Amino acid sequence: MTSIEATVDSLMGGLRADLERLASIPSIAFPGYPPEPVEEAHALVAALLRDAGVPRVERLDLPDTAPVVLGEIPPPEPGAPTVLLYAHYDVQPPGDVSLWKSPPFEPTPVEGGLRACGIADDKANVIAHLGMVRAYGGRPPVGVKLVIEGQEEYGSAFESHPPTDPERFACDAMVIADHGNIRPGTPTLATGLRGACEVVAEVRTLDEPRHSGEFGGAAPDALLVLLKALGTLHDVHGDVAVEGLRREDWTGTTYTEEEFRSLAGVREGVPLIGSGSLGERLWSGPAITVIGLDAPSVDHGVSAVVPYARARLNLRCHPRQDPREAQGRLVAHLRSLKPFGIPLTVRPGAAGPGYEAATGGPAYRAARTALKEAWGTEASYVATGGSIPLVNGLAKAAPGAEVLLFGAQDSMCNLHAPNERVLFSELRNTVVALCAFVREYAADFRRAGGGAA
Ligand SMILES: [Zn+2]
Repeated sequence: MTSIEATVDSLMGGLRADLERLASIPSIAFPGYPPEPVEEAHALVAALLRDAGVPRVERLDLPDTAPVVLGEIPPPEPGAPTVLLYAHYDVQPPGDVSLWKSPPFEPTPVEGGLRACGIADDKANVIAHLGMVRAYGGRPPVGVKLVIEGQEEYGSAFESHPPTDPERFACDAMVIADHGNIRPGTPTLATGLRGACEVVAEVRTLDEPRHSGEFGGAAPDALLVLLKALGTLHDVHGDVAVEGLRREDWTGTTYTEEEFRSLAGVREGVPLIGSGSLGERLWSGPAITVIGLDAPSVDHGVSAVVPYARARLNLRCHPRQDPREAQGRLVAHLRSLKPFGIPLTVRPGAAGPGYEAATGGPAYRAARTALKEAWGTEASYVATGGSIPLVNGLAKAAPGAEVLLFGAQDSMCNLHAPNERVLFSELRNTVVALCAFVREYAADFRRAGGGAA
């Protein structure tokens, strides 16, 4: 066992206790929830970092967002690199509490870990950063900037802030620890995220509903027109059939079909849709999902031709495709259709860019070494599904920095769902990985003569 591992193992009892304290605070930064627990979690995180030896811990208040904890440890020597460590201390609301096997804000032991709301997403990763700082007695071999956000889950104005204050967020590499492993025990770097956009398609055919006995057969049903249009979005295999949406091979790892079926809760006998590898279907190819439909409900349906129908579509596109361009392709596709000669009104909605990490630099080299050291096996690459708007903001503030996405979560930890849990093995290994990462990265910088970025 390396000395890093021994040190981290000796810290785990304290880290677990701090995680339990943090996870027992219902820091839900959503409208309608009290602000006090958010403040309490903020204060606890700031105090833990201060006590761990972070010399500068500040509170960043911005309009319409919970306070951000900023911490800074200057580089130990001129020429040493600076690493920005990100996580968030707010959590999702617990949802239907009756679905929880224990109260969501009473951290409860489960096999190999703890169950609580937000314990994996993302409080364990806050604690992982803390663990790294503690392991080095507050003096890691790199400069450190800690950014612990307080309103990630609801969304906030913070994502647009870093580019307005680039000095403060300047770094050579950043670890966005709002992530974890594809499965426990498999160290995983998330290197991509698909772009996303929305499109609303609308059909109006009649002034108002008309008796289906008297008018049906000639008066056009708006819902049928819309459904015919939606039916053209995929081919017979379930692959997206809209032209101009980028799709490429996925070169990293992916779920087994069995893992994916179980994670997605796909019912027995129901096949998956699309063709090609799961990585290609989920991460390096497009997906179109109908996320909303305005139509008469089954229970309240009357014998009438439907005059109006509307659908909201969510499109996910290849990480390197401009989501506005992809959105334009979908809009053009829908506008070109005229089911029964009837045009649709199609409106583009919001769009957010994807992300693809450059994996050839020194920080990736150091991270691969570190993850292997921590988990004893080679790191895998995956993409992620959840959006991380802040990454784009941070990347704009520090355009030369390498961005690493890893952490103490795993795909089986029930994020944003009842009975969320985190495993001590993953937390412990994440702390080891962070320690090994900064050691490797600093050494690489020294070899390269410093200032490589
Ligand atoms: Zn999160």
